[in-house]
Amino acid sequence: MRWCPSPILHLVRCMLVRSCTRKARSRLPLCFRERWAYFKLLSRSLYFNSLTDSDVVFDSAFEPVFWSVDYVTRWFGLVFVCLVVILTSCVVVIAYAVLLPMILRTYSTGWIVWHICYGHWNLIMIAFHYYKAAKTSPGHPPTVKSDIRFVSVCKKCILPKPARTHHCGICNRCILKMDHHCPWLNNCVGHFNHRYFFSFCLFMTMGCVYCSISGRNLFLDAYNTLERIKHMDLEKPGVPVTGIGALIGLLPSGQTKYQTPAPSYTFMDKVFNKCIIFLWVLTSTVGVSLGALTCWHAHLISRGETSIEKHINFNETLRYASRGQIFKNPFNYGRLNNWKIFLGVERRSHWVTRVLLPSEHRPYGDGLTWDIYTCKRDLIPV
Ligand SMILES: [Zn+2]
Ligand SMILES: [Zn+2]
Repeated sequence: MRWCPSPILHLVRCMLVRSCTRKARSRLPLCFRERWAYFKLLSRSLYFNSLTDSDVVFDSAFEPVFWSVDYVTRWFGLVFVCLVVILTSCVVVIAYAVLLPMILRTYSTGWIVWHICYGHWNLIMIAFHYYKAAKTSPGHPPTVKSDIRFVSVCKKCILPKPARTHHCGICNRCILKMDHHCPWLNNCVGHFNHRYFFSFCLFMTMGCVYCSISGRNLFLDAYNTLERIKHMDLEKPGVPVTGIGALIGLLPSGQTKYQTPAPSYTFMDKVFNKCIIFLWVLTSTVGVSLGALTCWHAHLISRGETSIEKHINFNETLRYASRGQIFKNPFNYGRLNNWKIFLGVERRSHWVTRVLLPSEHRPYGDGLTWDIYTCKRDLIPV
């Protein structure tokens, strides 16, 4: 029974014959010599040309690990999307059930109008951009013969790759101006949905910060109430109050020494207060983490880079510096122009209609060919 394909076997036998005829010193059995020659040929094939380097060897060695991670991420994509929808829905329900009545009860008319207008605008922007980011295709290079200019060939798709295109192992396709694969969207972020992704991050951060600030007093009240209920359940009247609430000074000063007579709390009171704490902790955590991610992407957009190009350009900068040269990103059109191109702003009114309101306009260019400017110039005069 043969254990390797015939062309490889033929090569192995050739090597073996050469070895035997020239040196004739091996006394190992034939099957061992065949296998040794096979592995020697395999290892040599990794260095068969000048393009093969340590990165290729590393990629080949860890291919099973990458494949497993990609498979798990692809499978968990729908779970992450459901998680985003469920958590956002919970926050919206709690905001309507708890925050809105509090605002209507305690705020002046002007503040009530502002909260209702801002809250609903922010909610619409989050829902619109999330839906569009998840459902819009990021864009793929053509699979049929075309005249587009390409810079390399994808070794996975065996297809030409235009500039800024990269292969996504999870989608198993090449993506135009690929930024990254987002598990929270179950979609790649590329040329045609990059703006939706960034706008979603921005408006979600704004919504979380809004809920966190608006619900801060409610959170403190709810925390104090829950602490009071917990100690009422555990301790008898007259026993000193302990716990984190007393340590961080959240309990009212009159109750830090001795418990007052117990007011009655219903099950619904506990649920109500726990919902407020859930809302505040979730929105504060997401606001901070997503805010940091949004700032990072804003920084990249200002420089005319994607997340992948950030690493490539960093390596290129080092390579140029070792030669005494300065690397310039060919897709950086200047800070303001980068933003205008990214947001699709062509007139002053577009800052409102295309940025502050839901808009389905397509991005600048087709994602296949890119203008390369060595000097900054105003591409879209506004
Ligand atoms: Zn590809
Ligand atoms: Zn992908």
